[in-house]
Amino acid sequence: MAGSLQSASRLAGALELDCDVVVVGSGAGGAVIATTLAEAGQDVVVLEEGPHVPFTGGLRPSESIRHTWRDGAVTLAVGLGDSPSINVTAGRCLGGSSTLTGGVCFRIPEHVLDGWVGDGLTELTPQKMAPWFEQVEQDIHVEEVPRDLRSRSTELFGDGYAKLGAELKPMRRNTRGCNGCGRCNFGCPHKAKLSVDIAYLPRAIAAGARLYTGCLVDKVVFSGTRATGVRGSILDFDSQRPARPFTVRAKRVVLAAGAMFNPLILWKSGVNFPVLGQHLSLHPSFRVIGRFDQPVRGWEGAMQSAYGDRYERDEGMLFNSVYVPNGVLAATMPGFGNAHAQLRGQVDHLGIFGGMLHDDAQGRVRRGFGREPIMSYRMSPRDRARIPILLRRMADIWFAAGAREVFLPVFGAPAQTPDSMKNFPLEQVKGRLLECSSQHPLGTCQMGVDPRHSVVDARGRVWGTDGLYVGCGSVMPSSLGVNPQLAIMTMALRTAQLMADERRASA
Ligand SMILES: Cc1cc2nc3c(=O)[nH]c(=O)nc-3n(C[C@H](O)[C@H](O)[C@H](O)COP(=O)(O)OP(=O)(O)OC[C@H]3O[C@@H](n4cnc5c(N)ncnc54)[C@H](O)[C@@H]3O)c2cc1C
Ligand code: SF4
Repeated sequence: MAGSLQSASRLAGALELDCDVVVVGSGAGGAVIATTLAEAGQDVVVLEEGPHVPFTGGLRPSESIRHTWRDGAVTLAVGLGDSPSINVTAGRCLGGSSTLTGGVCFRIPEHVLDGWVGDGLTELTPQKMAPWFEQVEQDIHVEEVPRDLRSRSTELFGDGYAKLGAELKPMRRNTRGCNGCGRCNFGCPHKAKLSVDIAYLPRAIAAGARLYTGCLVDKVVFSGTRATGVRGSILDFDSQRPARPFTVRAKRVVLAAGAMFNPLILWKSGVNFPVLGQHLSLHPSFRVIGRFDQPVRGWEGAMQSAYGDRYERDEGMLFNSVYVPNGVLAATMPGFGNAHAQLRGQVDHLGIFGGMLHDDAQGRVRRGFGREPIMSYRMSPRDRARIPILLRRMADIWFAAGAREVFLPVFGAPAQTPDSMKNFPLEQVKGRLLECSSQHPLGTCQMGVDPRHSVVDARGRVWGTDGLYVGCGSVMPSSLGVNPQLAIMTMALRTAQLMADERRASA
């Protein structure tokens, strides 16, 4: 029998449900687990805090940020010591952050998997993971971005990169029929980006899963050590505040609320581990902008179409093509009054590229006063020292491409010419003056082989409990150094398949 998708906020009264498996969160991890288990014949309920927002109407960026981004995109991981504070963005809607991606898909690099195997996770070898990756890549239609979809901004960065001896590689993305309109981060209006709300959740519903939006899960309910369901609040549709309670009784519970929220749910449920909430990895990211004499019109073309991995393996630095909406770009240019107006008028002459660090995962999630977590991030000395190196390399690439000036992600810094850049004291810039962002919160409920150093075992089961699993970005045993959605979906598929096998074995 087909399942359903309902807004619990629109239903009258309290909600009480029974099922085989309840999945908390409908993002990259939760959607894959729900679909796999529903198709394996399990009675699945999915609970999502955010609303269902069909993107086909073509939301304006401001509308998308208001309705589908968590906290209107102002969430912050507070920088400790000389670390920058980091703006961490995530989705809060059916499909979670997967709906907001640029579509970039990377497999977990082999050297990262080798490290996990070395730490005892012997089932995660590149060979054993390959079929899981292939399955997800097929499900979400991962394809190379054709060269003709590259923006001029990306082509120019590629020219500079080539002059310094390396080639940009074509990005792989989960798209079908992409026209390069560049709106990916605000939800694809053409259903060309195969995020999980398009590629997986309709399959889950077809297989009988019941999906409820507007359901904020508060805690897992236990009978002894066995998880028997979850409790929480249905959110009022307009205010998004808790309005009335719900209860879901289930034989198995999967937490897939993401790296920021899973620790909170576990703490509230009375579950704790020495490392719960720790080892938050963020892939700190920086944008460097080049200004050219000729028009660039960087918004024309796929937002993310190419990457440079020359320094990824040995130095943990990845260059990714990006673009930001013109309004945001204009607003963040330096200067005031006439000087700012002049720069603002040059937006069509700007090229942008992103640089990302494969970090040492030194962030932390703690319980806050209200519902939201408090996040902090203390960069390791190694990561901190790599920031000026990364930014100088990106500036050199823009200059090699012919940029007149470069804008660094340093608050208050004027534009740099090739000469002024040599003397700019980037190495002395305080962390609090660095403009840094992250779209990739990972870790906090890490997978491992010892409950003293991890939260879930190699199958995704929470140590010391029965019937409780974690299946989202929070289980990553370490930072990945590459965009994580494919990795999260693949690890989730593996966990779901193991859950389905366990069920068959016990039946
Ligand atoms: C703007 C942006 C661009 C990105 N671009 C890329 C990209 O191009 N390539 C890439 O690989 N990755 C990208 N990412 C990252 C990627 O989207 C995420 O890493 C991935 O979706 C995380 O999956 P997840 O399952 O851990 O969490 P999410 O996908 O965030 O899903 C978690 C879900 O749980 C819900 N939830 C949280 N708490 C509760 C609760 N208590 N009760 C009920 N529901 C709850 C949330 O509302 C959310 O929908 C991007 C992210 C953003 C924000
Ligand atoms: S660039 Fe492609 S994937 Fe992105 S929003 Fe436009 S059509 Fe969708």
